[in-house]
Amino acid sequence: STARKPLIAGNWKMNLNHLEAIALVQKLAFTLTDKDLDRAEVVVLPPFTDLRSVQTLVDGDKLRIEYGAQDLSAHDTGAYTGEISGSMLAKLGCSFVLVGHSERRQHHCEDDQVVNAKVQAAYRHSITPILCVGEGLSVRQAGGHVAFTVSQLDAALNGVKTDQAKSLVVAYEPVWAIGTGEVATPDDAQEVCGAIRARLAELYDGEVADAVRILYGGSVKSDNIAGIMAQPDVDGALVGGASLDPVEFVKICRFGE
Ligand code: PEP
Repeated sequence: STARKPLIAGNWKMNLNHLEAIALVQKLAFTLTDKDLDRAEVVVLPPFTDLRSVQTLVDGDKLRIEYGAQDLSAHDTGAYTGEISGSMLAKLGCSFVLVGHSERRQHHCEDDQVVNAKVQAAYRHSITPILCVGEGLSVRQAGGHVAFTVSQLDAALNGVKTDQAKSLVVAYEPVWAIGTGEVATPDDAQEVCGAIRARLAELYDGEVADAVRILYGGSVKSDNIAGIMAQPDVDGALVGGASLDPVEFVKICRFGE
C-alpha cells in the first residue's frame, strides 16, 4: 500500500559511546534533507548509554530523526538489576524499541514468551516495538523459513490488541544474513514479508495488515537496498553494520539512489 511510509532503522548494536553517537547523529542531520525525511522515516537505535545525548541533540535542534533502544525489560519497575524499563525509555523520548533481535534470542536466552512480554511492555509505555523475527540457516535449508517465522510472529503477538497491532513494525531478519555479508535475495525477502502480512490479516484484519511496516534486515547496504525496497511487502530496512557509516547510511535512507 502506498499509505505506508518507508522506515529505515539503524541498529548500532554495542558500538559508539555518547560522544561518538552525537557526532554520527550530527552528520546524519546535516546530510538528510527534508525531502529525504518526507520520503522515509529515519530511526537510530543506539546503546542505552547514548540515548540521553541523542535526545538532547534531537530536541535542541528539532531534528526529524527519531531514535529508540535495542531492548527493554519485560518489567516496568523494581528489583531487576541491570535492566532498563519502557517507562525510562519513554521518558528519554524513545519512539521505538527493538524486541527479540536474534542476538538477544541467541546470546540472552530470549524465548518467544520473553519476546511477547517485552512487546507488551513496549505498548504499555506507548513505544512502538520493532519486532524481529527470522529463521536460522538449518531451518532455511530445510525449507521451513515461512512456517518458523510466522510462528515467531504468532507467539510475539499473543494478547496484543488490534489497535496496538496497527502501529507495530516487524523486521524480518534471516539469522544467516545478519552480519555475514550474505543478503537475502529480494524474492526471498518478499516471500517471507508477504507471508507475515498475510498472517497479520488472519490474526487481526486487513486494516492492520495494511498499516504495519515490515522491514527486511540482514547485510543491507547502499548497493542492495533498491532491489529490496522494490518488493511490495517490504516497507524498509533494519540496518546493522552499515548504519555506523553516515555516508553509507544516508545512501540507504535514499534507497541507494
Ligand atoms: C541487524 O543487526 O539487525 C542487522 C541486520 O545487521 P547487519 O546489517 O550488520 O547484517
